Amino acid sequence: MTIKSDDSFAVTDGLNRALELLVSRRGDAAQLPHTLPESGLGEMQTLDILSRHVLDQAAQLGAASSLAHMDPPTPWITWAMTLWNASLNQNILHEMTSPFATQAETLVVNWLAPYFGMQGGHFCAGSTIGNLTGLLVARDTVGVNTVIASQAAHLSIAKACRILGLKLVVLPVDERGRLDREQLPNLDDACLVLTAGTTATGSIDPLDLVGAAKWTHVDAAWAGPLRLSPAHSAKLDGIEKADSVAVSAHKWLFQPKDSALVMFRDLAAANAAISFDGGYLAKPNVGVQGSRSAAAIVLLATLLAWGREGVAQRLDHLMRVADSLADALEKSDRFELWGRPETAINVFRPLGSTAAAFVQALPAGMLSTCVLDGEIWARAVAANPSVDVNLVVESILATNCEDPSQRV
Ligand SMILES: *Cc1c(COP(=O)(O)O)cnc(C)c1O
Repeated sequence: MTIKSDDSFAVTDGLNRALELLVSRRGDAAQLPHTLPESGLGEMQTLDILSRHVLDQAAQLGAASSLAHMDPPTPWITWAMTLWNASLNQNILHEMTSPFATQAETLVVNWLAPYFGMQGGHFCAGSTIGNLTGLLVARDTVGVNTVIASQAAHLSIAKACRILGLKLVVLPVDERGRLDREQLPNLDDACLVLTAGTTATGSIDPLDLVGAAKWTHVDAAWAGPLRLSPAHSAKLDGIEKADSVAVSAHKWLFQPKDSALVMFRDLAAANAAISFDGGYLAKPNVGVQGSRSAAAIVLLATLLAWGREGVAQRLDHLMRVADSLADALEKSDRFELWGRPETAINVFRPLGSTAAAFVQALPAGMLSTCVLDGEIWARAVAANPSVDVNLVVESILATNCEDPSQRV
């Protein structure tokens, strides 16, 4: 077979069909083949078949009842940019393929880094990679071999320590889920990891400790974007003295995955420590990843469309959503609130029932669970600006919390 011009690589009507299906959700409910098809179905039929699987069988993160996870719905401008990006398939590793994308990344990083007191940095696929990169730079610039973090730190810290051969010292947390400063060992030769917005409870470690260790990395995967809100920025005061900071843009900057930033206070020193030369590269490869997408263009579009104010308004709104849920739970005598939400995460449990059974009884996607000190709690994460908090409160209050397995 000779292929002269291959329509599979062109702009065609199929893209309109994809958009139609996204809106109508009326594809073909056919089953997927069990084995790799010998001859292709063609793009149009593939769209029809897959629409019922891909579009129907996923949580609707922008639904009025969605309050379960750190995964936000994404604004449509990001879908448009993702389409452009996929069609161009630029690689940040090769500036020749991505002259504008490379500029866009520098631009976005330069816009955001000052909010964190950082000189600059780069995009990566998530804060898991961002944390790994921060600890790698800590190890290879100042020579730390011990990392100190609280038991509420994200699992990516333990993962990074294992990969990098660093010793991890885990400290207890206080009653608000923050690293217990009373338990701190000598920090002179250590890397201290502080979390700004822990994954389970949204707690912020004492950021006045930033700078007390040989290296301080702040994992601001969740709450970092609050720096763009004048109303809430001060919650993260102290972060500007960190040596490195990780922020996930696919959480509270409403980006599609995989989008995150890792930033450094001394950018030149950091980049020198994580630059790798390859004979085929025009410029050294900086960081843990090799090929990288033009995710910066997607965030650039969002920031252009919304401005800082647009980001702040949405985060401020989500902070109010979490507060009003906490108010409602406090008013009811049927729930125990773990504590007031610090960064829009509510943790609570019904009295007289297990949290797991309670969350199960609610519509899917409304709440999640977390485990604290071996006990299960219900968890509501305000990442969805379209959530109807009154609807969520009504559902929670209307749910019969009685756990059949506990009945005598
Ligand atoms: C989500 C999260 C991470 C991991 O980030 P990814 O972007 O999922 O890789 C790290 N730390 C904290 C506190 C998080 O909430």
